[in-house]
Amino acid sequence: TQSLGELDPEVAAALAGELGRERDTLEMIASENFVPRAVLQAQGSVLTNKYAEGYPGRRYYGGCEHVDIVETLARDRAKALFGADFANVQPHSGAQANAAVLMALMNPGEKLLGLDLAHGGHLTHGMRLNFSGKLYEVHSYGVSKEDHRVDMDEVRKVALEAKPKVIVAGWSAYPRHQDFAAFRSIADEVGAYLWVDMAHFAGLVAAGLHPSPVPYADVVSTTVHKTLGGPRSGLILAKQEWAKKLNSAVFPGQQGGPLMHAIAAKAVSLKIAGTEEFKKRQERTLSGAKILAERLTGADVSGKGVSVLTGGTDVHLVLVDLRNSELDGQQGEDLLHEVGITVNRNAIPFDPRPPMVTSGLRIGTAALATRGFDDAAFTEVADIIASTLAGGDVDAQRARVTALAKTFPLYEGLEDWRLLG
Ligand code: PLP
Repeated sequence: TQSLGELDPEVAAALAGELGRERDTLEMIASENFVPRAVLQAQGSVLTNKYAEGYPGRRYYGGCEHVDIVETLARDRAKALFGADFANVQPHSGAQANAAVLMALMNPGEKLLGLDLAHGGHLTHGMRLNFSGKLYEVHSYGVSKEDHRVDMDEVRKVALEAKPKVIVAGWSAYPRHQDFAAFRSIADEVGAYLWVDMAHFAGLVAAGLHPSPVPYADVVSTTVHKTLGGPRSGLILAKQEWAKKLNSAVFPGQQGGPLMHAIAAKAVSLKIAGTEEFKKRQERTLSGAKILAERLTGADVSGKGVSVLTGGTDVHLVLVDLRNSELDGQQGEDLLHEVGITVNRNAIPFDPRPPMVTSGLRIGTAALATRGFDDAAFTEVADIIASTLAGGDVDAQRARVTALAKTFPLYEGLEDWRLLG
């Protein structure tokens, strides 16, 4: 019956510290977002107590009548939101979802073709130290040296040579749409399955502001916590013919008991993702990223060797290119941290600097859009970033960040309903 603050003041203090950090700084890590109060409530609920191995109506544990309702709601909402035949909402995370997808689609030793990690791919698309790189024979495609975009002729060429069992489209750091129809036709030509990992852009797809991979892919996986704005977790969508294999790959293939509290939180966030307000938020996300791209290629910074890969963006992030700048990715990240803006340094394609330093910054707008940022606020943010990277006075930029953070308050009253009492 003791509250967290009474029982464990050390953990409570760290949580309060994190709340303060989220409120006082500007979160621009492209894979992050802020979940609404209702999602926090669902995730912090008694559903964390329940074992529910199996699927609704076919569980290996008693007492699942309430969690069955929750999981069925989450599945139905996911299918309706993305127009998919089938959904599995049990993956604990994006990586878990991807492990299950690969387990369902291919056998160890078979060939996987994905976007090179160094060109924006994800660890689970075949990185050497990841299970995907250890279990499968990995081939990769990259972006072109000229325009830094995925070149479908090159994808086709590599696919024809490698003859992969699975082709994965999707990315962790790439600022443009991918051509899912072209991926489908290459997959058909070489007899591969097409898997799309839409973890980053799922929220934009849900809002109808990004091409949907669902009609083209055999299987689509996603995280729920990036642009989709829900709890940290994964989700798999597919054509009905894959239902049995995917369900069995998630449980018992990769996981034991599902995290029913996280699934409840997913259900809530999938409901939110179907609203007009969510669509407006995704519009502000996209518009903010475009403003950022424009202003970071403006004259005052471009003279310092700061530009934006591909010259713009179609999505919620921009990739700042510092290859021609004295500033490297690490220094850029640190400078922005000093003024209260959180981003991550990111290797960019053909990066001449080592991976721990990099020549890139990945900057996303989803979390600030959730906070309410509009075009005017994003213009101010872009100018703060540009001034900071151009060597402007740190204290002055920090004051501008503080003013913005005050204008867009976050989690008002949270101490009362979450941390204290
Ligand atoms: N897939 C893509 C494309 C991602 O960018 C990420 C996360 O960065 C993941 C999968 C993995 O998600 P998680 O961190 O939940 O395992």
